[in-house]
Amino acid sequence: MRPLVFAGNWKMNVGPVEAREYLRAFFAAGEIPHERSVWFFPPAVSIEAVAQGIAGHRNVSVGSQDLYWEPKGAFTGATSGPLAKQSGARLALIGHSERRHVFGETDADTEKKVTAALAADLQPVLCVGETLEQREAGDTLKVVTGQLEAALGKRDGKARVTIAYEPVWAIGTGRNATPQDAAQVHGAIRGWLKDHAVTAAPFVILYGGSVNLKNTAELLAEHELDGVLVGGASLNPRDWAQLVRTAVA
Ligand code: PEP
Repeated sequence: MRPLVFAGNWKMNVGPVEAREYLRAFFAAGEIPHERSVWFFPPAVSIEAVAQGIAGHRNVSVGSQDLYWEPKGAFTGATSGPLAKQSGARLALIGHSERRHVFGETDADTEKKVTAALAADLQPVLCVGETLEQREAGDTLKVVTGQLEAALGKRDGKARVTIAYEPVWAIGTGRNATPQDAAQVHGAIRGWLKDHAVTAAPFVILYGGSVNLKNTAELLAEHELDGVLVGGASLNPRDWAQLVRTAVA
């Protein structure tokens, strides 16, 4: 069995009280299968509750959904890497499409955030993906490798960075990339990572975009996919417990 990552992005849902209840229901299904890892990305206010709720459970980690690149200071509303770390985070999502498209985050911002996450000893999970317009124009690989180049291309030396390929048109829409389309883009991402030698092996590349209980097995049958990043379908603890136990060919 190959190792697989199941990452749940709760977005702006699940406060600390709900997070404790969620984890009780989630762990009632038992421990996580050996070769699988589960990562939770709760809102910043719930990181500590999740860190406490997962303590002692094998292969389960918590991360921040975003971070600001300055370590501390007068930046009202922002969460820095060191603050997320202090709350118990081990990972940080960087450049999620909602950060890029709702909050106007740029490629240059993602580069600063990756650097800040690594400085705070958080493993970055860098999200990349094309819009529908870019896909229809045949620019998918150019866009995705351009986002990698902007966020990682200037790095000196190798760092452990996970990549999440999330086509923008597939997030929260009920439309997912076909397993073959996703595998093609993952192959291009893996090729870029190998050529540029800025990330440490083993390369972990997740697929995200309307992943659910029905399509997970089919997507993960493609060995280019090392796991999934899931929004909506991670919000119900019983469904999520079932999804992370999906039988994969
Ligand atoms: C996400 O938030 O990263 C995501 C992929 O959302 P959804 O699974 O709801 O499409």
